[in-house]
Amino acid sequence: MSKKKVIAFDLDGTLAVSKSPISDRMAELMSSLLQTHQVCVISGGAFPQFQKQFIDNLHVEHHLLQNLHLMPTCGTRYYRFDDISGEWKIIYSEDLSKDEREKIMKIAEKSAKEQGIWPENPHGEVVEDRGSQISISLLGQQAPTEEKDAFFEKHNDKRLTLRAKIDEQLPEFEVRAGGTTTIDITRLGIDKAYGMEKLMAALEIGKDEVLFVGDRLDEGGNDYPVKAMGIDSIAVEDWEDTALVVETILKLGE
Ligand SMILES: [Mg+2]
Repeated sequence: MSKKKVIAFDLDGTLAVSKSPISDRMAELMSSLLQTHQVCVISGGAFPQFQKQFIDNLHVEHHLLQNLHLMPTCGTRYYRFDDISGEWKIIYSEDLSKDEREKIMKIAEKSAKEQGIWPENPHGEVVEDRGSQISISLLGQQAPTEEKDAFFEKHNDKRLTLRAKIDEQLPEFEVRAGGTTTIDITRLGIDKAYGMEKLMAALEIGKDEVLFVGDRLDEGGNDYPVKAMGIDSIAVEDWEDTALVVETILKLGE
């Protein structure tokens, strides 16, 4: 493996437990890694989720934050830290148009109601407008993990049927089942490989200069497109595995 300039990570299940903050140990490792590498975090989640899980728990000096590249919603948005203002600035965002978003949200709600899986008492919003992505959470965006896991066990077939129904009505969009209770809708061709292409273009680097770490690199997993495009990838099962990977990179000075 040639020397890697950028180490890119998936967020949920890779840097942190799903929807949870990164651990102190991971925060320390990230702070060390930022001294030697450019670091990218890419996820289907939106920026506020990055803030809650990652940035708020990262205690590093401002100048090091400039080595961090945040790509929410699969890289349809790109954020860098601006040392002068001390704030995260959006470099670009490729949002769906208002008409597109309204159309998607209407079809999502109507279809979920027709399928009988629109929640009566959701935990937070069911259909969320993330600008470049519409996300349907069948228990609501703030549902507890245990409830979501139970839903997945019992009703995943219903979710997949709903996905197919929505897909039929929105052939011009990508309709994916993500996580355990979610359906994500984006423009066609938006996945983590798309985000990686955008990152490489922004940094003017090639595939061989990137190393990707993710927990769903299996075929059909949401990290798989990165591996399939030919970026060296390391599969992990949880953030503890990722911590070992980062420790090894730091030790080897790779
Ligand atoms: Mg993951």
